[in-house]
Amino acid sequence: MPDADILIIGGGLSGTLLAMQLLRLPGKRRVLVIEPRSELGRGEAYSATERKHTLNANAARMSVDPDNPDDLTLWLQAYLAAGGWPEADRLHLPVAELFPPRGIFGLYVQQRLAEAQALNPGSSVTHVQAEAVDVQPGDAGAQVLLSDGRLLSGRFVVLATGVYAASRTAQRETGELNAAAVDPWDVTAMRALDPHGRVLIIGAGLTMVDALVSLQLAGHRGPIDVLSRHGLLPHVRRQPPGWPDFLAADTGLRSPLQLSRALRAECRKAAERGIDWQAPLDTVRVHIGRLWSQASEVQRRQFVRHLRPWWESHHHRSPPQGAVLIERLLDEGRLRIRAATLQGLEAVGEGMVSIRVRFRGQAHSTRLEAAALINSTGIQYDWRKVDKSLPQKLFERGLVQAGPLALGIAAAPDGAVLGADGERSDYLFSLGPPLRGQWWESTAVTDVALQAKALAQRLV
Ligand SMILES: Cc1cc2nc3c(=O)[nH]c(=O)nc-3n(C[C@H](O)[C@H](O)[C@H](O)COP(=O)(O)OP(=O)(O)OC[C@H]3O[C@@H](n4cnc5c(N)ncnc54)[C@H](O)[C@@H]3O)c2cc1C
Repeated sequence: MPDADILIIGGGLSGTLLAMQLLRLPGKRRVLVIEPRSELGRGEAYSATERKHTLNANAARMSVDPDNPDDLTLWLQAYLAAGGWPEADRLHLPVAELFPPRGIFGLYVQQRLAEAQALNPGSSVTHVQAEAVDVQPGDAGAQVLLSDGRLLSGRFVVLATGVYAASRTAQRETGELNAAAVDPWDVTAMRALDPHGRVLIIGAGLTMVDALVSLQLAGHRGPIDVLSRHGLLPHVRRQPPGWPDFLAADTGLRSPLQLSRALRAECRKAAERGIDWQAPLDTVRVHIGRLWSQASEVQRRQFVRHLRPWWESHHHRSPPQGAVLIERLLDEGRLRIRAATLQGLEAVGEGMVSIRVRFRGQAHSTRLEAAALINSTGIQYDWRKVDKSLPQKLFERGLVQAGPLALGIAAAPDGAVLGADGERSDYLFSLGPPLRGQWWESTAVTDVALQAKALAQRLV
């Protein structure tokens, strides 16, 4: 008899929501969630301890229950009423419009799991605190080897391993740079820096916004140079009104060029009526998976090459508090955002780091020196480049193949992983960030919540 019906590798948001959805379905099953962290439901994002590291969207948009968009708002109302997050009072906003700290969101996920467990005592979800280092096909399902030598068997194995963050793991290409860099969320390490020293931040996405928040919390008062390929900052998230779902009416639309034209036309229409451009943009989200999976390889490449920087800065928007901080730092003349390509690390010394970059429009490279460097270039989606046992073993055994454009791993639309031979597995599944190549947007709370529900139904 196998140790579990379903072995979930990774107990961050994806693995925990899958376990929650499995508990909500009728019937009895044993689920083991393999996760090295001490708590389920948090992963990298929701382990945040700083209250100012918030979600990038308000409570109304961050429900983990696809059937109830008010789920987080209702939970938060009860949490605030019980005295949690007292600082929220000072924001004078309706609960649905609050941007909760990510650590509090992690608590919400944990409580929803515990409630699902209480309602289905016949099933069990057990946390196995270890790292999975290998997967081998077995007689009926598969076996998972753990870092402590244990071998667990299950009918199904789900890869819910999340994002491999480029700034935190020792990827082959960036290992040296990361060894010299300060973690974007490590406020304690930032307190040890010279408070007046120059800080260089590589990357200008939402992790950069978190890094600025961390520097402020650590009392940094010096200059900050942000370097990114396009020099684009994330837009601030506002609360736009509803807008007609123009893509639902236009199913013939396929290429990235057609999409960007149609979207611009809608944004112009919105502007003429005095409506925020974020309103039409936000209707695109539900269609991204369909458009991406319909697109040809050439079209996907066109999107990544020409539209991605704009998509990232317009779609992955900053919480308002982060945007206010950026405005203030710009006004004080302490923050500069420049378009540049990193060429490499030059030297690291006591309280000093220097890098070589090429600014956009310049033929020569420039050496930049600072007291500290923060690498916020985000995520390593190419699993073949990740220095971790599990992805390496999966490739070695031919159990996975790289996903489209080398983003994560290839899978069928129902999450069944495709092996090196292109065949869909009948025991190995995945959800969330590993399926970036399949869906493009496969990381945010709403993406993961939908996938978890569908995969639970599929497995049961
Ligand atoms: C700092 C940060 C902030 C974010 N903020 C937002 C936000 O505001 N809004 C939003 O919608 N999205 C946000 N995201 C996106 C976020 O990644 C997803 O919402 C969510 O974390 C994805 O969940 P996951 O479980 O797939 O991945 P993760 O949270 O990365 O969890 C994966 C888990 O798998 C475990 N794991 C990995 N390998 C193994 C192994 N071999 N064996 C066992 N366990 C393993 C890891 O320990 C980890 O706990 C943020 C992401 C980050 C990194």
